Amino acid sequence: MGSLRAAGAEISPDGTWTNFSRRHSVRPRRVAAPSDLDGLRRVLKEAAAEGSRVRVVGSGHSYNDVAIAPETQVSLRHLNRILEVDLDRARLTVQGGASLREIRTELHRHQLAFANMGDIDHQSIAGALSTGTHGTGLTAPAFASQVVALELMLADGSVVRCGAGDGEDARGQEEADLFDAARVSLGALGIIVSVTIQAVPAYNLRRTDAVISRDQALTLLADPPPTGHVGLYFMPYIDQVLMWTAERTGDPVDKPSALGEWFRDVVKVNHGLQAMGVVARRAPRLVPALSRAFARGVRPETTVDTWDKVFLRPLFVRHDAFEFAVGQADGPDCVRQLMSAVEDAKVPAAFPCETRIAPAESAWLHPSYGRTSTWVGAAIQAPGIDVDGAWVEAQRACVAVGGRPHWGKWHTLGADELRRLYPRWDDFTALRAALDPDGRFGSPAIDRILGRI
Ligand SMILES: Cc1cc2nc3c(=O)[nH]c(=O)nc-3n(C[C@H](O)[C@H](O)[C@H](O)COP(=O)(O)OP(=O)(O)OC[C@H]3O[C@@H](n4cnc5c(N)ncnc54)[C@H](O)[C@@H]3O)c2cc1C
Repeated sequence: MGSLRAAGAEISPDGTWTNFSRRHSVRPRRVAAPSDLDGLRRVLKEAAAEGSRVRVVGSGHSYNDVAIAPETQVSLRHLNRILEVDLDRARLTVQGGASLREIRTELHRHQLAFANMGDIDHQSIAGALSTGTHGTGLTAPAFASQVVALELMLADGSVVRCGAGDGEDARGQEEADLFDAARVSLGALGIIVSVTIQAVPAYNLRRTDAVISRDQALTLLADPPPTGHVGLYFMPYIDQVLMWTAERTGDPVDKPSALGEWFRDVVKVNHGLQAMGVVARRAPRLVPALSRAFARGVRPETTVDTWDKVFLRPLFVRHDAFEFAVGQADGPDCVRQLMSAVEDAKVPAAFPCETRIAPAESAWLHPSYGRTSTWVGAAIQAPGIDVDGAWVEAQRACVAVGGRPHWGKWHTLGADELRRLYPRWDDFTALRAALDPDGRFGSPAIDRILGRI
């Protein structure tokens, strides 16, 4: 049984870097972790002199190979400071290497909050932005829309700033384009060295957990609540779907004891899923029974907690993930096809498959660009269970309706296919060619996804 740790990347004694899902590893030719911008600039200069390509890594929580850096790998783990807190405008400016957890701690200090977040907070803010990391709720923005300005270090070592242009910060078209391109840019335009976040006043959420049938869940997906947050966990082979919903409330925190929470989140969920993975590999026919037992263990309950405690679920168990953003109307059918693909291929998948909803985003390469979306997700204990055939089928179903993959999760799409899915693709690639004419920020994954410069 693998370890139950939240670590993203793991670095072995011989310098091999391996990502969260343990599917992708590399031994970079050169590794750098500068502690200031001059140091970062020097790394770029030396890379240019050697003709070496540069990939920034965050915490390694992408399931796919977007962070794989065979040549020069740069980490911003020492560029993780809180640079400025503007309480009048509820804005925090942080360095690109700051983790969501470090930012969350600072937000708490000032009774502020993220407007929304995903399931974990181990990622770096720049990594989370760069792949379009999102949460759930029709009015709940992804990180890309919670950012009002950022600074990018380009391949020549210069730093450019771009922002949302609100209030006194007027901007021209060039800056507007850079902002819309850079917020979700996979490290391909430059290195995000600082980010200004628009926070909101801290809030509590009333969370309800329940188990519903597949039909009920698909009906809910077809017509989701206009406000609040909704997460649906479909499980292959069984009719039960685990559902959580949350709404803002002025009520005080009201939840189980810390021990009760630990038992629910760590023992039942993480150790439960870990054990199910072991059994699923050895005795696949037991998967439906295991999943039913897991669903039976979920107690319907309503609790009130602070925003972050409701959003975050400590998911340590090693897994791999698939997630496509499809237009809202196509959500239910894509979930149906994903479940059929896994079930028809008899994949021993004993893991909840998270489906979420999200508003339209304006960053050019955000998978929810321009449309309200359903995020159709699946996950599996990793490594060791062969799911690729089923996920290729599910990918085909999502792409057929214009679905776009999460940039940090499993997919097999290349630049030609992706170009058809994004209306501003050519604008992005033109800007990339102008900002990084030598392809300094390329990598094998970027060559495949965006094309080689
Ligand atoms: C357990 C788990 C739960 C997750 N939950 C969610 C969720 O709820 N919602 C969701 O949408 N996603 C989720 N993800 C996916 C995750 O948020 C993204 O993959 C995210 O990119 C990881 O951030 P990171 O810091 O680990 O970046 P990495 O994985 O290290 O890097 C990702 C990309 O960001 C680029 N990058 C990193 N730093 C910089 C920088 N300073 N400048 C420019 N580019 C940079 C890298 O080059 C790479 O292309 C989850 C992943 C895991 C493992």
